[in-house]
Amino acid sequence: TELVFSGVQPTGNLHLGNYLGAIKRFVEMQARDAQCLYCVVDLHAITMWQDPEALKGQIREVTAAFLAAGIDPKRSIVFNQSQVPQHAELAWIFNCVARLGWLNRMTQFKDKAGKDRENASIGLYDYPVLMAADILAYRATHVPVGEDQKQHLELTRDIAQKFNNDFAGSILAHGHGEQFLPITEPLIGGPAARVMSLRDGTKKMSKSDPSEYSRIALTDDADAIAQKVRKAKTDPEPLPSEVAGLAGRPEADNLVGIFAALRGITRDEVLADFGGAQFSSFKPALVDLAVETLAPIGSEMKRLVADPAYIDSVLGDGASRAEAIAAPTLDAVKDIVGFVRRG
Ligand code: ATP
Ligand code: MG
Repeated sequence: TELVFSGVQPTGNLHLGNYLGAIKRFVEMQARDAQCLYCVVDLHAITMWQDPEALKGQIREVTAAFLAAGIDPKRSIVFNQSQVPQHAELAWIFNCVARLGWLNRMTQFKDKAGKDRENASIGLYDYPVLMAADILAYRATHVPVGEDQKQHLELTRDIAQKFNNDFAGSILAHGHGEQFLPITEPLIGGPAARVMSLRDGTKKMSKSDPSEYSRIALTDDADAIAQKVRKAKTDPEPLPSEVAGLAGRPEADNLVGIFAALRGITRDEVLADFGGAQFSSFKPALVDLAVETLAPIGSEMKRLVADPAYIDSVLGDGASRAEAIAAPTLDAVKDIVGFVRRG
């Protein structure tokens, strides 16, 4: 059976890339006959310093975004990572499985640490190992994420494989199948797997970009969306009539991809309608579509964050249900590794 896991960091500034690349697809997975776990990954967030008071609000805001987008907290398990101790515990065991050489290849660490690498936290370096623990504590089979997480998911597969190999004898001796930890399938795709910055078509849209104009926030109102799209960087050519014509035009490609994802169609279908159009006519259509999609989500988010007691009850209930799945996995891992457990 399918078990779906994914997470979003409570680092503020939730944006259209998070929605189209991740949250919208979480909702789609929920419609399949699968158990879905959606996690607010607060342990990941503190790999870069977060203001403690702000962090609480950001955790509730991501939870609100999940619910506002259509995740049903009865059907799916919605929780925050720090309430379920198995994530950090399994991460330690995986730290002893993952190799330094594997982590040294991770490009997200290089990007986020920047030039002052000596001053980056150990947690930032270890981020992908914690992510492997998030996924494998539930023995998740499917992980919907944006394209930027592809390399981390490959690392998750490597860790699962190495654990299964290193402990093959013990896994069998404890009565588990050879593939005790699943080799997780990444679900990456669609026209918005990598939404780019509105200011620079070669950089991904990101929460941490200092420019507000680089991203459309989930809570932006119609005026803000209109202004950001109007100012979005483009080139002077009209839109091509086929996808091949978007090659070498990252900004045009990005806006067409966003339009396609919002509409639930392909880039080709967008260009069938807008091929030959100038941005002066395409952009207003994009604004209408973005406002239509985001306005109800943004207003529902605002309604939900005004009721933190409700949000916290959703998270508490989710944590109990998540822990009920993760705890037996951790017990089995401890047996397999050779620890003596409390009798
Ligand atoms: P940060 O800059 O703090 O890392 P982020 O925007 O990358 O923030 P995350 O919480 O790290 O947000 O990622 C949450 C999910 O959103 C992940 O599945 C990630 O792949 C996806 N995602 C993030 N940015 C984009 C984007 N520009 N396009 C598509 N998906 C994205
Ligand atoms: Mg990120």
